[in-house]
Amino acid sequence: MNIEKSYAERLDKEDELKTFREEFYLGKDTIYFDGNSLGLLSKRAEQSVSKLMASWKEYGIDGWTEGAHPWYYLSEELGNLTAPLIGAEADEVIVTGSTTTNLHQLVATFFQPEGKRTKILADELNFPSDIYALKSQLALKGLDPDKHLIQVKSNDGNTLETNDIVRAMTDDVAIIILPSVLYRSGQLLNIRTLTKEAHARGILIGFDLCHSIGSIPHELSECGVDFAFWCTYKHLNGGPGSVGGLYINKRHFGKHPGLAGWFSSAKDKQFDMEHTLFPASTAGAYQIGTPHVLSIAPLIGSLEMFEEAGIDRVREKSLRLTAYLMELIKAELSDYGFAIANPQDEISRGGHVFLLHPEAARICKALKANGVIPDFRNPNGIRLAPVALYNTFTEVWEMVARLKKIMDKKSYKEYENKRGVIA
Ligand SMILES: *Cc1c(COP(=O)(O)O)cnc(C)c1O
Repeated sequence: MNIEKSYAERLDKEDELKTFREEFYLGKDTIYFDGNSLGLLSKRAEQSVSKLMASWKEYGIDGWTEGAHPWYYLSEELGNLTAPLIGAEADEVIVTGSTTTNLHQLVATFFQPEGKRTKILADELNFPSDIYALKSQLALKGLDPDKHLIQVKSNDGNTLETNDIVRAMTDDVAIIILPSVLYRSGQLLNIRTLTKEAHARGILIGFDLCHSIGSIPHELSECGVDFAFWCTYKHLNGGPGSVGGLYINKRHFGKHPGLAGWFSSAKDKQFDMEHTLFPASTAGAYQIGTPHVLSIAPLIGSLEMFEEAGIDRVREKSLRLTAYLMELIKAELSDYGFAIANPQDEISRGGHVFLLHPEAARICKALKANGVIPDFRNPNGIRLAPVALYNTFTEVWEMVARLKKIMDKKSYKEYENKRGVIA
């Protein structure tokens, strides 16, 4: 283990992706390690917003079919650009809605309780919004969420065991919803095995890709995953509230959307204005209403960058950044009561490092005061996401040096050990 700064600088010099950093707006003297909550703005994303503003200015209503990116086809166009990131075919992907609304749509479409199969299987560590959505979908079907939502338990409070999930796949389960990467610990679940086991038991399975898309490659079609959904403002850098996306395996094409609207229509039929819906034969059928064009716009620029960088190279650098961060933490911070709580092997490590410390809230405040942006997770977690497209090995080195100083001087004690409104 080389703990010299010069070593980090050398890694940066050799980094194949280093030019992408120049395209982002980085805060002066700030080390941004929160790209798994909100990715940074790039010049290209900014330009694509301006482009769509200009097409509104210039074309008015005709912007739906004119200009560089006609709005009527934009959700499909960006679905095409997203597909390689998750190992899907172009028409299996659509940019639409948000994580939570897409989950509602997919469960409304695919959860069809029948006979004994009336349960939804999830886990106890997922992001609350997913769980709220699942409970409300059960209630809408007249089923008691307390009885029909099964949440696989974690043994250590941070991670899930594949075997525990498989054991919970009983014959009363109709559908399974799991995150690809757990938002707190960063554990990457084994999508291939879980899908195989679910299908062997006649259960449908879908994944929430919020914390993996743009950071980790997927092979959704090859694994046979039934559906997936995600947001685009984390690793994909689409900006606050940018439009999300969903994937439907093409063997499900033709299934009537649970939540229908006129944008579910086949594109050539939509303006017939019939009261009978003819849904698109692709993932486009799971759109509902008019696309939020201005919140899709930044994705044109950001997805182009992923196309150029290639998701495999992004993953490779991301793994090296998190490995380097963990090594430095072990070498430099072992005396200060931190525990690394993310899985450390490459097979189950996501895009961020998760540190536990009893004083995590005030340590995060001290880091912010020292120009490092981490992400605090109640009650004692610090998430650190060095992002492949814009962070550097030198920043990892510098961040650890600043944290060590904070711990040495106990300067975190100047702050209250309590989370802010947004954390
Ligand atoms: C970020 C995130 C969400 C947020 O959902 P929105 O509908 O975009 O607000 C939901 N689930 C998971 C797992 C997330 O990481």
